[in-house]
Amino acid sequence: MAPYRSPGGQIQSPARARARTPVPSRPKAGHRLPPPPSALRGRVMIAAVAVGAFAAAGAGQVLHPIASAEGFTPLADGQDANAALGVGGAPPAAPDVLPVARTTDASAEAQKLVKSQRIAEQQAEADAEAHRPLFVKPAEGIFTSGFGGRWGVMHYGVDIANRIGTPILAAADGVVIDAGPASGFGLWVRIQLADGTINVYGHVDSYSVRVGQHVQAGQQIARMGNRGFSTGPHLHFEVWNPAGRKIDPLPWLNERGITL
Ligand SMILES: [Zn+2]
Repeated sequence: MAPYRSPGGQIQSPARARARTPVPSRPKAGHRLPPPPSALRGRVMIAAVAVGAFAAAGAGQVLHPIASAEGFTPLADGQDANAALGVGGAPPAAPDVLPVARTTDASAEAQKLVKSQRIAEQQAEADAEAHRPLFVKPAEGIFTSGFGGRWGVMHYGVDIANRIGTPILAAADGVVIDAGPASGFGLWVRIQLADGTINVYGHVDSYSVRVGQHVQAGQQIARMGNRGFSTGPHLHFEVWNPAGRKIDPLPWLNERGITL
């Protein structure tokens, strides 16, 4: 391959440039080439910053082509910015350049912005907490069965039918006291409220809470299923009052602003 003249005027063979060793035909010290024009220096700086980014990433001397808006020759593997531009001499200036970029006022401004953003987020969270619903409908679907005698058997809850997998939400804040298999219910989740009331969610396909977990009204706790003594996908929802008696969930929900 024929030698080529680098932008700085030095004659280098590509092999030499890759090897990054002094060029034998280099002019004597007294005849060193003038420094590159300022525009070129700017490019060197840009290249150095880019090189620094690669160096910081641990790439070391192996560089891949860097795109340049100024038409700067992409760097190939084994070349560094100096070799490519014929500047020669000093090692890559990247480590000296990068800290300057880090200590600009811009970073301090960015930190202030992040701080004010955090305050705004905390305020939004406080607002959401103050306005969040304390009771929600435990599942979307069709109210198919109420509390009371049914086919000669007492039905102790209300049924909401929908597709398997429909989200089941905690109807109220509370603590999970059961999450797992239960006779007749297939899988159930029971949540105890602060006043001692217990909400029961039966026939669930799967649950996503664990015993002892605190949940909030509206938080998804399970998915609708068809397990246990069930004749189709639905949620069987019960309310046990603080005395442990199973009561009609419908008026209990209605009194708390929830209709089925
Ligand atoms: Zn039921």
